[in-house]
Amino acid sequence: MLRHKIVIVGGGFAGVKTALELANNKHFDVTLITPRSRFEYHGAMYRSATGKSPLEVVVPLSEIFSEALNVRVELDSVAELRPQTKEIEGESGRVYTYDYLVMSVGYVVNYFNIPGMALYSENMYDISAAIKLRHRLVGAFRTAQPHKPVHISIIGAGPTGVEIASDIENFSKIVAGKHGLKDLQVHVTLIEAAPRVLAALSTDTSKLASKRLKDIGVNVMTDAKVTKCSEDHIVVNGHTHRSDITIWTAGNKANPLFENYPDLFTLDERKRVIVSEYFNANSPHVFVIGDAANTPFAGMAQTAIHNGMALADNFKRMAENKHLLAYKPKKPEYVVPIGGEWAVLETDEGVIGGIEAWKARRQADKWVLENFLVYDLANKHWRRGEKLAEF
Ligand SMILES: Cc1cc2nc3c(=O)[nH]c(=O)nc-3n(C[C@H](O)[C@H](O)[C@H](O)COP(=O)(O)OP(=O)(O)OC[C@H]3O[C@@H](n4cnc5c(N)ncnc54)[C@H](O)[C@@H]3O)c2cc1C
Repeated sequence: MLRHKIVIVGGGFAGVKTALELANNKHFDVTLITPRSRFEYHGAMYRSATGKSPLEVVVPLSEIFSEALNVRVELDSVAELRPQTKEIEGESGRVYTYDYLVMSVGYVVNYFNIPGMALYSENMYDISAAIKLRHRLVGAFRTAQPHKPVHISIIGAGPTGVEIASDIENFSKIVAGKHGLKDLQVHVTLIEAAPRVLAALSTDTSKLASKRLKDIGVNVMTDAKVTKCSEDHIVVNGHTHRSDITIWTAGNKANPLFENYPDLFTLDERKRVIVSEYFNANSPHVFVIGDAANTPFAGMAQTAIHNGMALADNFKRMAENKHLLAYKPKKPEYVVPIGGEWAVLETDEGVIGGIEAWKARRQADKWVLENFLVYDLANKHWRRGEKLAEF
């Protein structure tokens, strides 16, 4: 029987989900090319940055694919695509041939060329960055002079910025308690260029989120543009502000890899790949899914998972000579934790804030892990997030 060689590039939500959906299917040999031997759950990364165990967000690929006999994981990064010969070359020099190529390489951080931002700010794009941020926070708290506040600025009031900003004050209290720090003062400022926080969500959600942020002591600046960052200052709307730690959550851009192949990939204004309703780039053999693809609701883990499932389903249909199904986008639900056991939840029915929304968010975190692991293992990882890390 003909077995199709599927090569998937990128071991994030979209790529891993596609590979899992094809696992142990007799029609496919799957190769997953990824630079890391782990899957990382970004949605709970802010928790690792503010003291919770990183074991909640890091899942070894060997756990995910332990039973998948037809999935081979190659630790490599793609350096070159050769669509004419259906080959790709990795940075290792290894060459992989495919019948079908799935590009699920996500986004990369974008500092918009703001002077000093790449050098001095922290981010949370992967677990190493989140742990580095935690180390910097703990270091700043432990070395703070009495009665001299530690100033922390978060740039970007999207969900990630709101989540991390609202958890820092509480984390400072935990660190102070653990290390006997008296008189520790922390000033957290959330800075947003748009006129409101959570600008991509409804105005009702923004209002509720703003009130909650105020209640828990986060200083919010909107219509505020950061134009420079140094070791201990930032410039906002032309004014210099002290910032002992600056956290960048304001921008990302599509992986620059696509720009090297203009015949193969047509890009939108955000450099994401424009795909057909079957996720094809400009080739019947090359597909793009997840954050890198211009599909409705791209930029969300839920969408990347949905993309992966839809594409894998079509691969199976193709192998069984069934007609292919056009992609039907699915609107994600938005739940943003804002300090402690409190969150704001936006659905088609409306907006709610409070502990019930927080519980919904924790269930959503578990649901994400259940997409990749059997229930017991997913539950084990999820529960690890209730424990504190060493700091
Ligand atoms: C801090 C943070 C918090 C978030 N919170 C949420 C949330 O609460 N809810 C939600 O729905 N979404 C959230 N998101 C968005 C969500 O994580 C993304 O939408 C999702 O990761 C997209 O999946 P993906 O597979 O396209 O990309 P990714 O998951 O980013 O995976 C891309 C993979 O490709 C690999 N790669 C890159 N280049 C190459 C190469 N040349 N060769 C091989 N591999 C390569 C990368 O190493 C990476 O593993 C968050 C994102 C961040 C950064």
